[in-house]
Amino acid sequence: MNRKVRVRFAPSPTGPLHIGGVRTALYNYLFARRHGGDMILRIEDTDSHRFVPGAEAYINEALAWLGIKIDEGVKEGGAYGPYKQSERRDIYREHVKKLLDAGKAYIAFDTPEELEAARAAKPNFQYDASTRMSMRNSLSMPAGEVEKLIADGTPYVVRFLIEPGRDVEVNDLLRGKVVINSSILDDKVLYKSADDLPTYHLANIVDDHLMEVSHVIRGEEWLPSAPLHYLLYEAFGWSDTRPEFVHLPLLLKPDGKGKLSKRDGDRLGFPVFPLEWHDPASGAISTGYRESGYLPEAVINFLALLGWNPGDDSEIMSMDELIEKFSFDHCSRSGAKFAFDKGRWFNHEYLQKMDDAELAELFIPVLKAHGVDTDKFSKEYITCVVSLVKNRINFVADLWDQARFFFVAPAEYSEKDIKKRWKEDTPVIMRELIEQLKALPSFKSADAEPVILAWVADKGYHLGNVMNAFRLTLVGECKGPHIFDITELLGRDETVSRIERGIEAIKA
Ligand code: GLU
Repeated sequence: MNRKVRVRFAPSPTGPLHIGGVRTALYNYLFARRHGGDMILRIEDTDSHRFVPGAEAYINEALAWLGIKIDEGVKEGGAYGPYKQSERRDIYREHVKKLLDAGKAYIAFDTPEELEAARAAKPNFQYDASTRMSMRNSLSMPAGEVEKLIADGTPYVVRFLIEPGRDVEVNDLLRGKVVINSSILDDKVLYKSADDLPTYHLANIVDDHLMEVSHVIRGEEWLPSAPLHYLLYEAFGWSDTRPEFVHLPLLLKPDGKGKLSKRDGDRLGFPVFPLEWHDPASGAISTGYRESGYLPEAVINFLALLGWNPGDDSEIMSMDELIEKFSFDHCSRSGAKFAFDKGRWFNHEYLQKMDDAELAELFIPVLKAHGVDTDKFSKEYITCVVSLVKNRINFVADLWDQARFFFVAPAEYSEKDIKKRWKEDTPVIMRELIEQLKALPSFKSADAEPVILAWVADKGYHLGNVMNAFRLTLVGECKGPHIFDITELLGRDETVSRIERGIEAIKA
């Protein structure tokens, strides 16, 4: 069938979007864009008990941050709205009635206690062809009684009438065809009169149909529901336009077996949510990728490769490149281990690609947070600092560790480095070095370096000891970029005064 590609991401606003949900959204988006299709964001808020305030806003903000653009949705509008299920009650009611009128669904009055008793009485009880006539429903009860109960306002549910003993063949674009027998299915609840809302199964089918969804791309946890969904399409007479199904493999723990959970993130130190989440009930705060210093492009690239590959060995891919290459042919059927260290690697790579001036802009708030008066430093200075140390960072915040000494003189000196590099004769040599530096015609790295090296050689000093002692006075420890790049940036006065301070403060 050749029809316009229309996909939907259909989260339930029951809490923050999990990183697995983000990947589902991303694959929907990549597929839609790849085929010039539409991306719908549908809010599935039919489970009133699990509704969490703030969750919908969080979903919108997370997708916007990640650059996953929505064509139709609550905010965006569109020709197929409303896009929030709680606003589609009359549509569902009408469709429930259609199934009831056609004899494909029935009304059931069993109370929770009655259902409990039925389960207790029969091991593996299932509400289906073998049991439904012993339960309280419109198939087992006289019509008059059913009408009276409804008229009295007795709460009821509508159940899907599953015909037993039928082979249902379902197709998944990743997994191929699977045949299951309808006898293993139960008569699923489609609608509850108590809150006048449909269940996920009904709402999903009706909406996907009415919104002309061409591909349902969702998590593997919904695979067991696929046969039921097929039967619902059939019951409505919509089998011809039923969407294609794709059930994405699970995200797995980075180590060991099983599904990725929030606890894995806490245990191993990585976020499982795109943005920081403040739980409105408990007040607990969970960190997000954004707040942990990840760039959205890096998160996207990392997630795209968890369950898909481009068919070649490219790794760094922009959203546009991902769109260009995306196809289900290269999606894996088995779960993808959540290699969070790879996520850090991607972030490192994207930071390297970033323009130095742009990175400097991101560094300024970090400097401020550490009490640096950034007005004292020019934009060029900060940009140069960034260019010198950026290859050592995975996150913007790491810039502070790598570059603090460009903004504040060391207040302490590493004991370990003093022991190794600060000898008895070091103060004398450092004083001579000061004279050499003062006499340099140019303080530029490339000009200063050969002069100083020649002086060291001439004197017969140990190069490593001299340079490391020098570095210790400038940085506070024996690390950092090329020393003459540091001195060029610090300037002659600051360099000399740091050596003087070092001579005073460091005692071998
Ligand atoms: N509301 C469901 C969820 O939160 C959607 C599943 C689907 O995409 O069909 O996962």
